[in-house]
Amino acid sequence: MRFPLAPTAKIARHIVKHKLKGTPKFAMVLQLEPLHTCNLTCTGCGRIREYSTSLKDMVPLEQCLAAAAECDAPMISICGGEPLIYPKIEELVAGLHEQGRMVYICTNGVFMRKKMREYLASAYTPSFEPQLAQLLTEKLVTEKEAEAIRKADGAAKSKVVIRPSKWHYWNVHVDGLEFTHDLIVEREGVFKECVAAIQMAKILGYQVATNTTVYKETETAELEEMFKFLSSLGVDGHTISPGYDYDAAKKDMVKRLGKDPAQFFLTREMTRQKFKDIERWGQMFTIFGTPGYLEFLAGKRELACSAWAVPTYNIRGWKAPCYVMTEGHYPTYAQMLAEVKWDRFGVDDHGCGRDARCENCMMHSGFEPSGALSSSPRDSWINFKYNFGSRPAPYPSSPELTRAAYNGATIGKGHLAEAKEAVNREFAGVKSAFARGGNDLPHDHDHADSGHSGGSGGCSSGASGAAGDQLADLKAKIAAAKKIEVKSE
Ligand code: SF4
Repeated sequence: MRFPLAPTAKIARHIVKHKLKGTPKFAMVLQLEPLHTCNLTCTGCGRIREYSTSLKDMVPLEQCLAAAAECDAPMISICGGEPLIYPKIEELVAGLHEQGRMVYICTNGVFMRKKMREYLASAYTPSFEPQLAQLLTEKLVTEKEAEAIRKADGAAKSKVVIRPSKWHYWNVHVDGLEFTHDLIVEREGVFKECVAAIQMAKILGYQVATNTTVYKETETAELEEMFKFLSSLGVDGHTISPGYDYDAAKKDMVKRLGKDPAQFFLTREMTRQKFKDIERWGQMFTIFGTPGYLEFLAGKRELACSAWAVPTYNIRGWKAPCYVMTEGHYPTYAQMLAEVKWDRFGVDDHGCGRDARCENCMMHSGFEPSGALSSSPRDSWINFKYNFGSRPAPYPSSPELTRAAYNGATIGKGHLAEAKEAVNREFAGVKSAFARGGNDLPHDHDHADSGHSGGSGGCSSGASGAAGDQLADLKAKIAAAKKIEVKSE
């Protein structure tokens, strides 16, 4: 099976219950955002921009649990922001488990090892020594950390922690191999940390999933390599979704990076091109999701949007109409269901957006549930076969696969290192998002105000406008991340 039996049965019961009752709209997955604070500033992330004035605010624990109870979704995806920054994250996970819900923690992976060391400290008995020895051998904990785990005091022993459970997945954000991923999260070393966290989690018996957003520049060949590598690490499943140009992200792309959003996000046609191999990947790797949604991504069918089935709750309430678009926030899920004019959103039978902003959307949060909730006998059969059929075997690990994965900062080719070199040489064409190894994609140099031609790039060292902002932005990032002095012009 792709998914553990007990949670699968619970989700199936939830759907059957509502179908028998004739509930017109109900929640399948709650996207719970207890805070929007994050330790990273990923390119394309709308949250840290849309909620930039309330980054310090948090949803109290009781309110988070009440929101889950109100919508009664069997699956909770705790996202944000970075949920591991939420001070009561352990209590939140425990409370959701007490309610009998499946929990995904959508994390950038940076704090995962710390949380797992806390688990080890709380649970440690000599029977953990073989696992600790393996973690030491693989350099996933240090000798000092291992000693701290062995000598944990009463406070560490009694701390609420996130334990391995079939009702819980770490859901680690990975958007590509090392170079691409670090570029997107705008910090070197994050990919390496994610991989270390995944390895540690698997040694300790956690379930691990990954989530990947596909952008316009994402290369499908790289995605396949990424899935092979992640599968070889023992990752239990993958979610994948096309990126989408919702407003806050779009504004940020233009203002901060000087990019044209039309060059960054996918249209429906482009999405279908990118996802043409998705069904084959579904056979090769444990891709989570419904086969109907995979067919939709591959361009083989249309689906209606069921954004109400994947509601988002955050510091302002129930976000409507969907995860990506904001027209308002409601105090209760019931009120949101009742008051939003749902037929204004999504796409019509021909795939045309009822709202202009829906035109290019193929996000999993809108369309994935439509495949699961379909009552056609064919959909029921393919869903059953896909989820209850045997799980694809892990891809065999190999030194070649590992070498291919570490193609960025690890071998001195991270984007900050590259930019530093460019800045210090007063090289005009500072690498921008997704440009790699000197082979910039032509559109990365097409800014109307950058004053340079295409090809290898050439804004002057006194770059102005968008290019100047980008240069300044990169310099600041280099200085902050590397703690080095960057020579100014
Ligand atoms: S199609 Fe659905 S999920 Fe996508 S933007 Fe429109 S309402 Fe939101």
